[in-house]
Amino acid sequence: MNLARFKRRRYTPHATPIEPMPHLSAALGGAQLMIKRDDLLGLTGGGNKTRKLEFLVADALAQGADTLITVGAVQSNHCRLTLSAAVREGLKCQLVLEQRVPGSYDPAASGNNFLFDLLGVEKIEVVDLGADMAGAMAAMQADLAAQGRRGYIIPGGGSNPLGSLGYVACAEELLAQAFDEGIGIDRIVVASGSAGTHAGLIAGLIGNSAGIPVTGINVRRPRPEQEGNVHKLAIEVAALAGVAAPIPRDAIVCRDEWVGPGYSLPTPEMIEAVRMFAATEGVLLDPVYTGKAAAGLIGLVRSGEIARDERVLFLHTGGSPVIYASQSILGVARAA
Ligand SMILES: *Cc1c(COP(=O)(O)O)cnc(C)c1O
Repeated sequence: MNLARFKRRRYTPHATPIEPMPHLSAALGGAQLMIKRDDLLGLTGGGNKTRKLEFLVADALAQGADTLITVGAVQSNHCRLTLSAAVREGLKCQLVLEQRVPGSYDPAASGNNFLFDLLGVEKIEVVDLGADMAGAMAAMQADLAAQGRRGYIIPGGGSNPLGSLGYVACAEELLAQAFDEGIGIDRIVVASGSAGTHAGLIAGLIGNSAGIPVTGINVRRPRPEQEGNVHKLAIEVAALAGVAAPIPRDAIVCRDEWVGPGYSLPTPEMIEAVRMFAATEGVLLDPVYTGKAAAGLIGLVRSGEIARDERVLFLHTGGSPVIYASQSILGVARAA
């Protein structure tokens, strides 16, 4: 594997830290928990989409694009970071926002929605769940073409094979860190959404014969569907990256016990996890992705499925700006 073959913009000038979480481990009575701080990646507010955009935006620039077009939920971290990359590169950005929960788009909302405005989004189109998202983006691209401009379409979550290379690179980064810093890793736990993060990690770990299993925690889809999506994409990104080893189906594990009633909808386990990470380690999660992934981590430790002496790396994929639009969900009135 030689990722230097690919054009890449650089948005984070260093590896993200791997930190121990001793207080959380103590509070749970076991497992040696660590966290890789991809919430500290570059671009506005950090998070996993920054790694994908390094490859996607390099491609957009190579194709002469002047505008990035992408799609996401109404509080999408991916849309915030795509817009931020556009600002960094002197490009424009147009967004299609999908109301996955009916009536959830609030133009006055805080969090990422406020940042869309602050970062100078050129156009937002809001559509309902089930609308033709690809068609909406193609129409934006056609409108731009009619004005003599060139739009580059980035799929939801940046999760095509090219974007997923960002997490092949992350696998290589964390293996090098583990070697340099003498860190043993028995398992990685990560949120699994549009699948590029999970798939890229799998391809990178298998491509390096790392022997580290990954437990994905779903945020939206049932287990069989999500495992199929991740497996398909992992095979594609492995082929693009030049991984010779096959990607076995049983390397893909996507647990769906912590999704709750649906995408972005709160669960008691998510609220507990967000509050626990903050109060024990000072780490902010988000209610949609990392809060549910952390609820899965906590659940697996408590049930004993993660052994007491297991060394587990939780990959923090970001999302903390959403916390500022979620106080009514997460807040608990304090006793006077
Ligand atoms: C997009 C996102 C994820 C999920 O990553 P995918 O590559 O879409 O599976 C996880 N956490 C946060 C904070 C995200 O924004």
